[in-house]
Amino acid sequence: MRAIRGRVLTFLRAPRGAGDAQSYRYIEDGMVVVKGGRIEAAGPTAELTAQLPAGIPVEHFPDLLIMPGFIDPHIHYPQTQVIASYGAQLLEWLEKYTFVEEQKFADPAHAARNAEFFLDELARNGTTTAVAYCSAHPGSAEALFTAAHNRNAGMIAGNAVMNRHGPPGLLAPAGTAIADSRDLIRRWHGKGRQRYAVTPRFAITSTDEQLAELGALLAEFPTVLMQTHLAENLNEIATVKKLFPSDPSYTAVYARFGLLGPRSLLGHCIHLVRDEIALLRDTRSVAVFCPTSNLFIGSGLFDYDGLAAAGVRIALATDVGGGTSYSMLRTAAEAYKVMQLQGQNLPALAAFDLMTRANAEALGLEKEIGAISPGAFADLVVLDPRATPAMAHRMETVRDLEEELFVLMTLGDDRAVRQTYIAGEPALRSAIASA
Ligand SMILES: [Zn+2]
Repeated sequence: MRAIRGRVLTFLRAPRGAGDAQSYRYIEDGMVVVKGGRIEAAGPTAELTAQLPAGIPVEHFPDLLIMPGFIDPHIHYPQTQVIASYGAQLLEWLEKYTFVEEQKFADPAHAARNAEFFLDELARNGTTTAVAYCSAHPGSAEALFTAAHNRNAGMIAGNAVMNRHGPPGLLAPAGTAIADSRDLIRRWHGKGRQRYAVTPRFAITSTDEQLAELGALLAEFPTVLMQTHLAENLNEIATVKKLFPSDPSYTAVYARFGLLGPRSLLGHCIHLVRDEIALLRDTRSVAVFCPTSNLFIGSGLFDYDGLAAAGVRIALATDVGGGTSYSMLRTAAEAYKVMQLQGQNLPALAAFDLMTRANAEALGLEKEIGAISPGAFADLVVLDPRATPAMAHRMETVRDLEEELFVLMTLGDDRAVRQTYIAGEPALRSAIASA
């Protein structure tokens, strides 16, 4: 049991524009009481101190913001050595960099080392849950689940299944991919905090037969999630058209194989036509906005307002290693710019809601993570809005919480993360002020 004291902020629902003070709960001098890895209570320090049993340690972060840990719903753990690869758009980038690095994950020692690095880096950036693509090797998923389970960190992951249009080292021998995925589901889905996501890399790298088997697998396990890529790049879309000539659209391919639904996370969703948007809305699938990746690989601009107005569920993610930062703060900053280029706005309240509560809701995990509320896991991030000289200087003119949040997302990164708690345990060794 421990108590964490500071400025507590958590979202209650999606903000309806800037200045929506009803969308969040903010406690200037607040306290989060943690017991057995979960939040026991949260409220004003003056109220909770009186109820605390004697001798409970209080970790005090004066002037810092305590928020739910960030959630990254689209990231590739075998791409920690692909990030920052020069000069290519999607299909060339996959062949030249990604497929080369991912083949190294056939080696369990390489997978284990990268899994530890990946989880360390997430924690340094305040991210407490991620939905991760593994490589095509079942051992890569095994390594990530093992490492996450040992940390009691809630991860969702799946091995990226493919049986064509890739190097032989990444193509599962006929008949093994689905059996491997099923075996991983039985071993890991629901073990501790781990969950599985059925993971076709994208339509190009699976035959009709394999996509149908993956759809059947998703139907077989009603709480397993699904992650894949959709409509990221124009050459990708043209290739899908050639490979699936009878389907009216890229999205329709996934629909035909039963891969859309409320548990389905579709990365990118940039170049969609009207019928595809309707399919996403009607199936309650989630469009995952990956701004740093979309800019870096030169894929295009995600139409946030257009999809939201159409009633499509939206999440926000890094997509490392196409994405260029593990930081959800950097990701929100780039989301803001992508929207500005289209004459749209992303209020800071909406950005922080996305990184926490809304991303949890996109995963169907809003009761467990993404909020500071009793019963939820004590996955928390402690943010310092004065972490750098430029931030501290800018903070001198900040007038309210929303402006402070905007400074944090525009100028902040891993340096703004003072501490990350995973199931109530500090994940960073950096100093904690104790009261
Ligand atoms: Zn991706």
